[in-house]
Formats: sequence, structure tokens, C-alpha cells
Amino acid sequence: MEKVAIVTGGSRGIGRAIVEALARKNIKVVANYNQSEEKAKTLKAELEKENISIDIFQADVSKREDIKKMMDFVVDKYGKIDILINNAGIDQEKMFQDITDEDWDNIIKVNLYSVFCTTQETIKYMLKQKSGCIINISSIYGINGGSCAVAYSATKAGIDGMTKALAKELGPSNIRINSIAPGYIDTDMNQRYSNEEIEQIKEETALVKIGKPEDIAKCVEWLIEDNFTTGQVISINGGLVIT
Ligand code: NAP
Repeated sequence: MEKVAIVTGGSRGIGRAIVEALARKNIKVVANYNQSEEKAKTLKAELEKENISIDIFQADVSKREDIKKMMDFVVDKYGKIDILINNAGIDQEKMFQDITDEDWDNIIKVNLYSVFCTTQETIKYMLKQKSGCIINISSIYGINGGSCAVAYSATKAGIDGMTKALAKELGPSNIRINSIAPGYIDTDMNQRYSNEEIEQIKEETALVKIGKPEDIAKCVEWLIEDNFTTGQVISINGGLVIT
């Protein structure tokens, strides 16, 4: 049977590009969405024109009960989960002194707890299968830090730490887990930047450009095919940060 993948935040931006790429590779994809129901339905309809069928599933990944419902749906329908892409996330632009307890708790819940929880609920099945591939979408800010993005950067660094530690626990069970840490990618998340600011960001990269969601999807495709990479943080950033 074909592989089965869950992509969180799959109706738009980077998640959408990942859903499209995997679905076109004959993988059974469950595209999660939270608020963007119309966008999820549109994506499903567009892929159907190519004779590709995907499932869409509403779940708030900051809530364990929602995640459990999604896993039950996937396992009831397909009997397994081969691939988990933890992509859903929010950003937060605030001076450090202005971050409230509510801001902090919210971004930790959506960006970090969600990865902990979704991964925990998924590996139950992967451990039984003795195989699996998990990819977390973190951020260059988790590596390098972002000004006015302390909470966001902390969540993304947390994801990378989780990736490295969990790779050691899960490796003997043939489950690989890696992070992709994007630089600036052209999605809704960066709509707040003016054209001048985008030009400035481009100038800061070696390739003098910002990325497209498809650039991240290509790395996901490669990681899924690979079988000797685990615990790594792969930064796709156009040469914004070269270490
Ligand atoms: P985006 O266009 O703003 O999309 C965010 C996605 O996350 C949406 O699909 C949204 O779903 C989903 N989401 C948010 N909260 C959720 C929740 N509670 N439950 C389920 N889904 C939720 O952002 P993007 O640029 O594609 O970002 C995708 C990932 O890449 C994020 O983790 C982001 O931090 C990371 N990233 C992005 C960039 C960049 O430059 N764009 C750079 C580095 C890292 P709904 O719309 O359905 O609510």
C-alpha cells in the first residue's frame, strides 16, 4: 500500500506546497487545517482535477484531544502513519519587554507543545510498524535568533532540540526525525513586510532572493526518500546564514 502522511497546517503556505508535492508522489496525504477550511477545500478540489485524492481534517494542533481525533481518523481509514510533517505554526513580532504571559503560553502551545503532542500520538503507531519519518519545520530564527521574535525563536530552538534528542530514542526503532529550518519564504507569514523590507532581506542572502514554499517541499521529498539522515537540522535559507 502507498505511504500515508499527515501534514499539519497543510492548506496554505509551506504546508500546502508539501501536501501537493507528496500527493503527486502517490502518497496518501491527510492535510490538516485549523481555521482555513475554504483553502483546504479548494486545495482538495484542485488536486482532484489532477485525479489526486487527499483528505482534509480540521484540528487545532495545540489541543491533544483534536490531535487524537485526527490520528484516529487516519488509522481507521489507512491502518498506519508513515510520515508526519509538523509544519503548523504562528509567528509573533514583539519587543521582549512587551511579551505577556498569554503571548508566551500561546506561542509555546501552538509551535512547540503541538510538535511534542502530535509526535507522541503518532509514534505509538510508528513504533508498532518499526518505521517512520518525522519532519519538523523549525526556523532559521531557532538557530540564529530573531530580533523582536524571542518567543518564536525559543519555540523553534525547542523544536530543534526535541528533534536531536528524539532521534536518539527513535533511531533503533527505524524512525527518523529531522528539522528543516527555513529562512525567509514567500508566504502569508511574511505579508507584514513592505516591498522595501523584502528587498533588504534579499540583499542579506548570498543568493539575493527569498525562498518559495516549493523550496522547502523539495527538501521534504528528499528526506522522505533518504534512509541515513536523522537528528539533523537542515537550513534552507538562500545563504542568509552560512555556518
Ligand atoms: P502561514 O502561511 O502563516 O501558514 C501557517 C499554517 O499553520 C496555516 O496552515 C495554519 O492553518 C497553521 N496553523 C496555525 N495555527 C494552527 C493550529 N493551532 N492548528 C493547526 N494549524 C495551525 O505560514 P508558513 O510560512 O507557511 O509557515 C509554515 C511553517 O514554517 C511554520 O511553522 C513557520 O513557523 C515556519 N517558517 C516559516 C518561514 C517563512 O518565512 N514563511 C520561515 C521559517 C519557518 P489555518 O490557516 O488552517 O489556521
